[in-house]
Amino acid sequence: MLLEVNDIHVYYGKVAALHGVTLEVSEGEIVALIGANGAGKTTTLKTISGLRPLARGRVRFQGEDISKVPAHKRVALGIGQAPEGRGIFPGMTVQENLLMGAYGRKGDVSGDLAQVYEIFPRLAERKSQYGGTMSGGEQQMLTIGRALMTNPKVLLLDEPSMGLAPMLVAQIFDIVKEINERGTTVLLVEQNAHQALQLAHRAYVLETGAVVKSAPASDLLHDPEVRAAYLGGD
Ligand code: ATP
Repeated sequence: MLLEVNDIHVYYGKVAALHGVTLEVSEGEIVALIGANGAGKTTTLKTISGLRPLARGRVRFQGEDISKVPAHKRVALGIGQAPEGRGIFPGMTVQENLLMGAYGRKGDVSGDLAQVYEIFPRLAERKSQYGGTMSGGEQQMLTIGRALMTNPKVLLLDEPSMGLAPMLVAQIFDIVKEINERGTTVLLVEQNAHQALQLAHRAYVLETGAVVKSAPASDLLHDPEVRAAYLGGD
């Protein structure tokens, strides 16, 4: 098992955002985390990244308990995160933004840069453009590209399709598939449950801070409760 999240409890002040989330991600998988607004999806990813402290429970990566390991060391271990809301550096060029992802890494990163440009030809075309002048979809690509520059074993993707036009949504999902096929494990948080379930191997459904269902994604696509709550019903 690459990543194991065991019974995590996370608070904002006195309010519990997560009360006992357990999930697992195996090497090579795409696992989706779906759920309504405020269910705790982002908090789960932030806890795995080390950006939110645990009140209870454990996060294991490659068999090691990393619950107390600081966020920057988790990146070095191979946990890459492309956060919601993008968070690129607007005053830096596309290439400088990508190289920031590799900051602190030892050795030559030019092969990884070439690979990111292969996955995202748009970024290659615009490597000298300032990040802040890129379109919303391009900034989303840049966020994912920067996370790939950390050379992650698992990539945590928070709402990669947010705010994008339908054509770009399809493109981003294709890119996530390609990243996975090139060997990176993916844990994906998505509001766009239908497309997430079509892409993922397995999925977890979060409701008010707890996992209420976990199953192969194709089963959840046909689950009447999931269809009614997250897939527009029928
Ligand atoms: P969305 O799909 O809307 O992004 P989510 O499933 O990612 O939602 P979280 O962002 O993890 O949900 O939020 C879980 C709960 O924790 C929500 O009730 C939210 O209001 C609360 N919460 C999140 N961040 C904070 C914060 N910084 N301070 C206080 N409460 C917070």
